[in-house]
Amino acid sequence: SYRKGGYHAVRIGDPFASGRYIAQRKLGWGQFSTVWLAYDTHSAKYVALKIQKSAQQFAQAALHEIDVLCSIADGDPSNSKCVVRLIDHFKHTGPNGQHLCMVLEFLGDSLLQLIRFNRYKGLELNKVREICKCVLIALDYLHRELGIIHTDLKPENILLLSTIDPSRDPIKSGLLTPILERPEGGTLNGGSAYIEKKMKRRAKRAVATISSRRDSMGGQSSKPPRCLDGIDMRCKVVDFGNACWADKRFAEEIQTRQYRAPEVILLSGYTFSVDMWSFACIVFELATGDMMFAPKTGEGFSEDEDHLALMMELLGKMPRKIAVGGARSKDFFDRHGDLKRIRRLKYLPLDRLLVNKYKFAETDAREFMEFLSPLLDFAPEKRPTALQCLQHPWLNLRSSDGQSNVDAGMNKLKI
Ligand code: ADP
Ligand code: MG
Repeated sequence: SYRKGGYHAVRIGDPFASGRYIAQRKLGWGQFSTVWLAYDTHSAKYVALKIQKSAQQFAQAALHEIDVLCSIADGDPSNSKCVVRLIDHFKHTGPNGQHLCMVLEFLGDSLLQLIRFNRYKGLELNKVREICKCVLIALDYLHRELGIIHTDLKPENILLLSTIDPSRDPIKSGLLTPILERPEGGTLNGGSAYIEKKMKRRAKRAVATISSRRDSMGGQSSKPPRCLDGIDMRCKVVDFGNACWADKRFAEEIQTRQYRAPEVILLSGYTFSVDMWSFACIVFELATGDMMFAPKTGEGFSEDEDHLALMMELLGKMPRKIAVGGARSKDFFDRHGDLKRIRRLKYLPLDRLLVNKYKFAETDAREFMEFLSPLLDFAPEKRPTALQCLQHPWLNLRSSDGQSNVDAGMNKLKI
């Protein structure tokens, strides 16, 4: 990809924007860009420099992202809405062409890394609640005040705030993510081959979760959870490369597979509530360490049909009207609203799953479910808005001790 139209090759020490920014090291990458830690000589602070591939379509996507990020910054002068802040943008010409560059406030590890570093044990519910509040503040701001749908919410696109002084080199001082214990050979802040390997292992693991019809109880690790106590779990939503205005949607197929809403699979049209679906999938994953839905292609059925089956096994049968109402419904459902190829579903309601597999205490499971399940309504218009979620009593409950849900259950047994 480091050729004409592709990524811009960066060496440590390279200057950008007439010497204002100095590249320090790579933080991560996406399909369209590489992201670098850079030193801003004007403000004497560290920033994240996102350098887009140069070809026309990438430049266009970057212009769109800059447009969205500018609206986000304009509407939030105090930078308190839990969305990444655009500091500057410019063009940089290199051997592979002209690259649009975005300068963003520097953030820490992603929620995906947090889940990984926690060894796929669920985070304790108090921490899940703190993360939920941040993401909901972001979603309420985007949806209600700006009319923006993110369309690609997932753990990789939510970054923890680095709690450090931005004028100190966050990596040299070892403080980028002081809270997270790094496994052997770990590199900082994602995007590396290391993370990719982890992603593959993670995808494998997810197959052994409840989401799979083939195995309802397997795949639990007995390792103790990492100690993540006393951390201020604040985070921000990033990656607006796919975001759109609700009145100017351009893509039909949106969202990353596991976080995709049913109406997107069925092509029934979508709005803000697709982000609420993804949000619910993320919250489940934070609390349990497993993806809520990890569909796979099988013998005689597609990944899409498997996905719909997994949803129904956990949430109950999809109302017929909704099942047959999309432009692609006929690919999956017969006229009665039954799946064409996957005939026998193994129902296991969410609260039972939380108790049986994830060893939640009955009360925790019930309370958590009361928060989560309305977000997973098959009827998009019935899902609560981010503002309604922010008012939900679950967010202000407090679990008594600082342990993971699983451990809390164990302790009760000991007592
Ligand atoms: P893409 O649109 O190409 O997916 P992202 O905006 O998601 O790009 O950024 C790619 C990766 O770079 C992220 O997953 C994250 O690891 C890292 N990154 C992005 N923005 C920041 C930031 N502001 N601070 C620190 N790291 C970042
Ligand atoms: Mg991304």
